[in-house]
Amino acid sequence: MYWAIKPFFVFAAIAGSFSYFIFRSKILLNTLTSLPTKADRSDHIPSRIKSVFVDVLGQRRVLKKKAPGIAHTMIFWGFIIITIGTVEMMVDGIFRGVNLSLLGEAIYGRYLLVADIMTLAVLSGVCFGFFRRLVLKPAYLKTGVDALTVLAFTAGLMLALFGMNSFRVAADPGSTLNQYFFVSGFLGNIIHQSGLSPDLAFVGSEVFYWLHLLLVLGFLMYIPRSKHLHILAAGPNIFFRQLGTSKAMIKTDLEDENATSFGLGKISDLSWKGALDLYACTECGRCQEACPASLTGKPLSPSNLVHDFRTELFAHQAAILAKKTEELPNVVRADSGVTEDVIWACTSCRACEEVCPVHIEQTTLIFESRKNLVLMQSSFPAEMQTVFRNLENNFTPWAFGSDTRADWCRDLEVKQMADHPTAEVLYYVGCAGSFDDRAKKVATAIVKLLKKANVDFAILGKEEKCNGDPARRAGNEYLAQMLIKENVETLNKYKPRKILTGCPHCFNTLKNEYTAFGAQYDVVHHTTFLSELIEQGKLKPAVGADKEVTFHDSCYLGRWNDVYQSPRDILKAIPELNVTEMPRNKNKGLCCGAGGARMFMEEKIGTRININRTEEALATGAKTIAAACPFCSTMLTDGVKAKEQQANVQVKDVAEILAESIT
Ligand code: SF4
Ligand code: SF4
Repeated sequence: MYWAIKPFFVFAAIAGSFSYFIFRSKILLNTLTSLPTKADRSDHIPSRIKSVFVDVLGQRRVLKKKAPGIAHTMIFWGFIIITIGTVEMMVDGIFRGVNLSLLGEAIYGRYLLVADIMTLAVLSGVCFGFFRRLVLKPAYLKTGVDALTVLAFTAGLMLALFGMNSFRVAADPGSTLNQYFFVSGFLGNIIHQSGLSPDLAFVGSEVFYWLHLLLVLGFLMYIPRSKHLHILAAGPNIFFRQLGTSKAMIKTDLEDENATSFGLGKISDLSWKGALDLYACTECGRCQEACPASLTGKPLSPSNLVHDFRTELFAHQAAILAKKTEELPNVVRADSGVTEDVIWACTSCRACEEVCPVHIEQTTLIFESRKNLVLMQSSFPAEMQTVFRNLENNFTPWAFGSDTRADWCRDLEVKQMADHPTAEVLYYVGCAGSFDDRAKKVATAIVKLLKKANVDFAILGKEEKCNGDPARRAGNEYLAQMLIKENVETLNKYKPRKILTGCPHCFNTLKNEYTAFGAQYDVVHHTTFLSELIEQGKLKPAVGADKEVTFHDSCYLGRWNDVYQSPRDILKAIPELNVTEMPRNKNKGLCCGAGGARMFMEEKIGTRININRTEEALATGAKTIAAACPFCSTMLTDGVKAKEQQANVQVKDVAEILAESIT
């Protein structure tokens, strides 16, 4: 009788839950395709496939955090292997005898052995998950009902599997196939030795079979509604990820006559990739742990941001699907988790994106939200009003006339492109190097080094304008595009063979963002260029004044452009100079607090990011803090002053340290 009705109930259970799963998944997919904003990620398919192998199957980023990484990898691979057996269970439940044993005992037995061991591995991973969430409780990790439900589901699945297999062994301990069970074999023998009859053991095995099956199907129905949606979305999100380190901000078509809004105002303004990002979040909290804004008490947590955007997306799914989005509220609003303070706290350091195991692009959400706030709502920190005005009138964030842009090098005999258009190198000085007293000394050191190495270079002088980074990162895409277009026109007039920048922000924007505006040039940061001159023997450092040095990585040089080694190579080339690394260095380096136009905004909430970083630098005992960015130098100099260490510790650009070592 039982064998007669079992196939029907197995089939009904599978069909019911699968239908619901497909129904929910279809809604999720339709939501993605209903979003009007485009995103093209159809390029470099081989690299994308490789990325899936490395980051999904290889769990590369997951494993960067040792203990939770190993636990997750055990769960991930355990699930893949066990799922083969689960599918087999379902098929065998409907068509009795159609199972893996058809492959022969040797293959089936080995599979049972591996699956049995992986069941233990998954259970161990889940126990660690409970331990982390309930005992260790790291501040960055969410321990909500959802996370615990998922862990409980997984634990239940594994325990039911052990129950099923153990009773199966106890029901037929002599079966050669059952000898392959390792953990379940051990448990099954205990049950057998307890005197349980084979018939009752069989009943026990069937009870656990049903329990396991129902848990699998229940879990399947739960996935599209939970954080475990990442099981479905993480793979595609990694496939469609931003490839490489360099990243350009989205160029908004401001001349689109059909556009009713710019940037991310309502949740329906997301691109499909932005929504996929939200689906893919595992709520691991790694981004929050790395975020300088979170670490210093700002209301921004990239993890919460993604979570809150997802909540908003799910809440308005019906309107998106019905294409009735006119009445949707702004996603950044005072009564939601995403307030303006959250959006403006970001320094755009990309520490979040660097650690995210599923390659979510948090800065895109933030930049696009800022764009909408500025362009559509005229809402931005008051300090930015002056900066925008200066950029508009003086082409620099500061109140200096553009006609004084080349005054810093009046006595240095520096050629200008207008007089020497065939110069081998165009030195793009940047606003800080041109106007900021401290940064002018760095620009002077760079000139001294270029001359020493007989480099044929020239500057743009008055023709140079702000590269557009502060306006763009602050959401003023209109102003940024105006500056970019004017610079592009100038650059295309001279067509320089190489552009040398003295600032990572100029470097990043010219290198990665000007291409979309019709200017593609060989752009190099001064640390890379100078290290090459040393390598070519054109600069020969001797013993300099700085002996104990620590180096602070600029986010826009490092995480945005993968330049970590050049500044270190320069320092290493100077005799008797010893570099002590800070605990957080290279791609883990802590931001100085100035990026994302935060340089021009007041830091009113929490503790100061630059003080946090300066304390870390001072703790190395170094007498010189080396930087490679004028904004970092300013922030760290302020930090040293705040810690009253200016008599003992100096902040210098790597170019200055090198120039002082060249006689
Ligand atoms: S870019 Fe930096 S500051 Fe902004 S959310 Fe990410 S980690 Fe935080
Ligand atoms: S955004 Fe990425 S790093 Fe942050 S919680 Fe989600 S998965 Fe983890």
